[in-house]
Order: sequence, then C-alpha cells, then structure tokens
Amino acid sequence: MSKIGHRLEPKTRPPEIRKKDFEEVELTISPEEAIKEASRDIKFCAAPCSFRGCPVNVNIPGFLKKVSEGDFKEAYKILIQNTPVPSITGRVCQQEIQCEGQCVLRRVGEPIAIGAVERFVGDWALENNIEIPVTSEKKHKKVAVVGSGPSGIVAAADLARMGYDVTMYEAFHIPGGVLAYGIPEFRLPKRILRKEFERLQNLGVNIELGVVVGTTYTIPELLKDYNAVFLGVGAGRPIFLNVPGENLAGIYTANEFLTRVNLMKAYMFPEYDTPIHVGKKVAVIGAGNTAMDAARSALRLGADVYVIYRRGRNEVSARAVEFKHAEEEGVKFIFWAAPVEFESNDGINVSSIKLMKMKPGEPDRSGRPRPVPTGETFNFDTDMVITAIGFYPNPLIPQMTPDLKVDDHGRVVVDIEGRTSIPRVYAGGDIVTGESTVIEAMGWGRRVARTIDKDLQKI
Ligand code: SF4
Repeated sequence: MSKIGHRLEPKTRPPEIRKKDFEEVELTISPEEAIKEASRDIKFCAAPCSFRGCPVNVNIPGFLKKVSEGDFKEAYKILIQNTPVPSITGRVCQQEIQCEGQCVLRRVGEPIAIGAVERFVGDWALENNIEIPVTSEKKHKKVAVVGSGPSGIVAAADLARMGYDVTMYEAFHIPGGVLAYGIPEFRLPKRILRKEFERLQNLGVNIELGVVVGTTYTIPELLKDYNAVFLGVGAGRPIFLNVPGENLAGIYTANEFLTRVNLMKAYMFPEYDTPIHVGKKVAVIGAGNTAMDAARSALRLGADVYVIYRRGRNEVSARAVEFKHAEEEGVKFIFWAAPVEFESNDGINVSSIKLMKMKPGEPDRSGRPRPVPTGETFNFDTDMVITAIGFYPNPLIPQMTPDLKVDDHGRVVVDIEGRTSIPRVYAGGDIVTGESTVIEAMGWGRRVARTIDKDLQKI
C-alpha cells in the first residue's frame, strides 16, 4: 500500500444533521485532495477503467494526469470529450462497478476515487464558467432529441458539437428526465442540473419544455421538420407487485412519490403547490437505488422508515454507498420478506402488510440466491407504503407510433447502431434496454449520435 497510498473517501455531512434536510450529503473534494488522489494513478497501465469500465470511455488516465499537475482546465477539456456533464456523472455513476471496478490498483490496494475527482473537475469548471467548445462547422441539418434524461443529454451534446442544430423535447417543466424527477436533491442538487443544462444551451442546444412527444407532436410530424429524431425517453413506467390490496390509499409507487418530492418540491409545501402525504411508519418495498432514494426522502419528511426486501443484506442492489448512507441516517431494513397482501382497518387506507418469510435458494441468472417462500407469514403495521421494484420503458411513443417496432417488454427494437424500424428515427438508453444505469444510457446516447452523424452525412 505504501507507494500507492490510501484511497480518498469524500467527506459527508453528519447523519444526524443531514437526515433533517435535503442538502447534499457528500461534499466535493478540495483542489489539494483532488491533486493528491489523482497522483495515486500509476502511469502506463492499459486503462481498463476507461475501455472496459466506462460506457462513454472517458480518458481517465489523461484527465487524472492533468489533475495531478493542477491543470484543472485541461482536465475538464479531456473529460468533456466523453462526458459532457462531469458534475453529474461524478455524482451518480455506479463507479464501484464501472470505472473504479476495473481500476488496476484494486489488485494491490484500493482503487482511485475516479468519481470524486471527476466531480471536483466538473464543479470547478462550473464555478469558473468554463464552457464546452463547439468542435465542428455548422452542418445545417436538424435533429430532434426526445427526452432530456441521460441518453438525450449525451446525444444532444455530441450532435451539437458535431455542428447539428439540435432541439431537445422534455415533457416536464424542468429538464433532466430521471435525473430531475428521480434523484433527490441530497444526491444531485438541482442547481448542478440547471448549470449543466445552461451549458448545453450555450453549446447551441434548444430545449423545449412541456412538450409531450406522441401527443403534442407525433413522430411523423417531427420527421417533417427534422432530418433525424432520437428517442431517449427512458423507462419510467412503474412495475407493480400485483398483490391484493395494492390499490389502497397510502400506497404510492416510488415514481409518484419521488416526482412529487423532487420535481414539485412537495417537501416545501405550502411554499410550493404540491402537497405530499407522508405516513408515520413508512414501508419501502425493494432495495435498489430508487428504493434508497424514496426511503431517505421519507425519512427527511419525518417518517420512521423500513425497507422491506425479499433477499438478504448481501444482495441489496443499490449502490453500496447509498445503502450505507441510508443505514447511517436511521433507515431500518427487513430482509428475506416479500409482500403477499396489503390490508386495511377501514377498507380505505393501508394499515398493514402481510409479509411472506423468504429464504435463499439456488442462484438465479443474476448469480444471487433466488428468494424462495417459506410458507410462513407475519404482519407489519404501516400507514404508508412506497413500492420501488423497477420500471418498464415509457409506453406513450410506441403506442402512438404504430410503425415503431417494440418487443414483448415494450422496448423499442433497434439495430446494433440504434436505428429503429422507422427510417431517420433512432433510439437509445432505457427505452431500448429496459431499466439500466445513468451511465449505460449515456453510452447509448454517444453511440447513436455517431450513427446519426454517419447516416446524415450521406444525405
Ligand atoms: Fe467513471 Fe462514470 Fe466518469 Fe465513466 S463517466 S469515468 S463510469 S464516473
């Protein structure tokens, strides 16, 4: 360990303070910390972090070298060649399974805190008003990007840099897609999102809010005005448990709960218009990142929160750091239990959940032990439930566009380069793959932007 030193762990605000507000939990590292951490990089490795670990292939050795020299501006220039929003990716990427998961220092010690250094560089550039340079001549061709989430952001930025006229359409009143409605302020502050979008606009991307493509404009209508259309509308349709009592009052999907909290600022009601009901004892079903976000939001709104998961502690699918932060803040966990029925004392509001005790079985396709019912049930009293067991692709555009081919799971069918069944219409991200990570969706945005460029150069 002596030569490569210990990995920097970013500071967090104390749990007893942060659990009472929506301010950011983790703090951006200092310039000195960034230089020290970047200097741990061993030179001349094959950079599997970049080629195998990062879906947008950030030149990690290149940007770390510049940070280690204290040249943050050059580091930023290197970073944005691959991620146009390093302040976002540095915060929300699952680095432990992406870039840091492939870091060669893992073999001899601890991986470099790539995400923390990337976030530092992104924030430094935002504070110092460093813009993303346009790299190509104007092409005088127009591309519509539908959806302003992760895949749309990267597609729009790349196409604008290539010289295309890009208009991005977003159904909500603020841009960001899942980054805005799904991720709470304490993990990704809206001011960061706002600044990154200002930068996209400075790059020439025109953003139209409150436009529901599929109803406000159809795809054939967009094709009359644009040379190409990119669909990056994500996966935001909640999966339901399909157990009796799921329609009782007091049972929310994480999607609705988080949208109210994140997008409508319900936590500031009555200063903001949208109210939110939060129970005294809240049960969150599921243990992915969305479940952690919902649990920690409910905690901040004053509830006693329990996460109920059908598998065990070692199988929690949320990022390790989010699980840790949730436990530190006082979220409690009930493992190896799955809802079989929601019950009500008054026939209207949920009052308890009948839970089946589960036990670990043979590994499933994910390699984790399959949860197997034991046949034994118990009751858990609660006055609010938030279900967070996953999402399907958004159905509106496929429903309104009969020629757009989708598979049995509602995913848009594309060729290997992102072309759909409709000429000049492309798709990428969760609408194609089903629910995935932010950075995987961004990787799609990059790939499909290249395809669009390749195809448009022929006409
Ligand atoms: Fe790692 Fe994400 Fe940055 Fe890629 S974009 S280097 S995966 S933090």
